[in-house]
Amino acid sequence: MTPKPDLIEKVRQQVDLDFSQRIASLGKLVRIPGIAWDAFDANDLERSAEAVAQLFEDSGVFPEVEIKRASVDGISGAPAILASRPAKNGKPHILLYAHHDVQPPGDDKEWLTPAFEPTAKDGRIYGRGAADDKAGVIAHLTAIETLKAIAGTDFDLGLSIFIEGEEEAGSRTFRAFLDENKDKLAADVIIVADSMNWSPEVPALTVSLRGVVAIDFKIRTMEHAVHSGMFGGAIPDAMIPMVKVLNSLHDDKGNVAIQGLKTYKFEDLPYTDANLRSDSSLLAQVSQIGDGGLMDRLWGKPSLTVIGIDFPSVAMASNTLLPSVSAAVSLRIAPGQDPQEALELLKAHILGNVPFGAVVEFGEFETGKPFMSDASGWAQNMAKNSLEAAFGNPTVDIGIGGSIPFIADLTEVFPDAQILVTGVEDADSRAHSPNESVHLVGLKNAMVAEALFLLSGNELQSE
Ligand SMILES: [Zn+2]
Repeated sequence: MTPKPDLIEKVRQQVDLDFSQRIASLGKLVRIPGIAWDAFDANDLERSAEAVAQLFEDSGVFPEVEIKRASVDGISGAPAILASRPAKNGKPHILLYAHHDVQPPGDDKEWLTPAFEPTAKDGRIYGRGAADDKAGVIAHLTAIETLKAIAGTDFDLGLSIFIEGEEEAGSRTFRAFLDENKDKLAADVIIVADSMNWSPEVPALTVSLRGVVAIDFKIRTMEHAVHSGMFGGAIPDAMIPMVKVLNSLHDDKGNVAIQGLKTYKFEDLPYTDANLRSDSSLLAQVSQIGDGGLMDRLWGKPSLTVIGIDFPSVAMASNTLLPSVSAAVSLRIAPGQDPQEALELLKAHILGNVPFGAVVEFGEFETGKPFMSDASGWAQNMAKNSLEAAFGNPTVDIGIGGSIPFIADLTEVFPDAQILVTGVEDADSRAHSPNESVHLVGLKNAMVAEALFLLSGNELQSE
């Protein structure tokens, strides 16, 4: 369903009309340094939750706006904002997610404007949380207010909001919160506004996230350490098989060499080798690795990193054959890959490449599911049409090379919900870094798009 031109115009006018008020609300939130890390004042987080709850309360759309916490192991989580109103006349129910907590400011000296003082400059608003994710909160609020202004207070669409308070601190009680508030959170569509657009003029939908598999393993060749001058040359110390195993994990071009792992194909986007080089600080004389397009390598193919190794430091080095060495490896897996299967393939690869009959012992492991949005559902299509109408350009599909663990929780607790990962950031937003900012044109376009999505949902013919 493509939004009609007169509706697009109406929404744009409404968003324009209220825009300075929305930016003022965003500024109020940016002034509250709500950080969910233990080292920071929990009162600020509380004030942040109260300010957000007040905004949704003032919208008059929800019968009740609550500030709630879940607890895990007897320890209470950060305050989250929860509100819900039921759908009527067979219309869908939509859950809007964002988070109100922010990253610590980091080094004050690196900020060109004060971290917690919203500052307008060059078409952007600067400040910690101005983008991640207080702009996401304000985009949801604007979409709801615009729906109300155009469709009337008695609209049929079901709506829930869940504004988390500890996303930047690892979402410790997220799963418990979902389980405890399942009734109010259950929805046909979940909009997670915590990602980015390609630019302020080109919208993006985050269609996939890579998953992760990490494992520790130990290689043993002897019962105890011996002198390298007495036995070196006749028996292997544990580092020789370890080096050979680690070397076997990539081919000569730097592709992951584990057989049987899945890959996922992305369209190429205007992100150049020069962009990659400067964004990653890759040295001028060092080449890239891997076959295929850049987007495929960053988002759609597996990547493997040795993230730790237990071996004497250079300062402590002595002429000894070591009996055992441990390493930790982390494997990013493609969207669509089962983490358990990837773990088994990784273990089989290690066992199949260890020479001299050295003993391998596997230790702790961790898995995180990848995410791929459901392209066959109505929501993705409607979201793309709304984004295109708002931004005036087609939507590009983007992926994320890392994982967002709470997305896996959402898919587990609400397996039938269609999850849309949208956002307000752009490539220059510098979330988590000093001088974080949101582009005002990009933010306004994101607001218009989300309002169009809610209005289209409100008009959707029930099956
Ligand atoms: Zn965020």
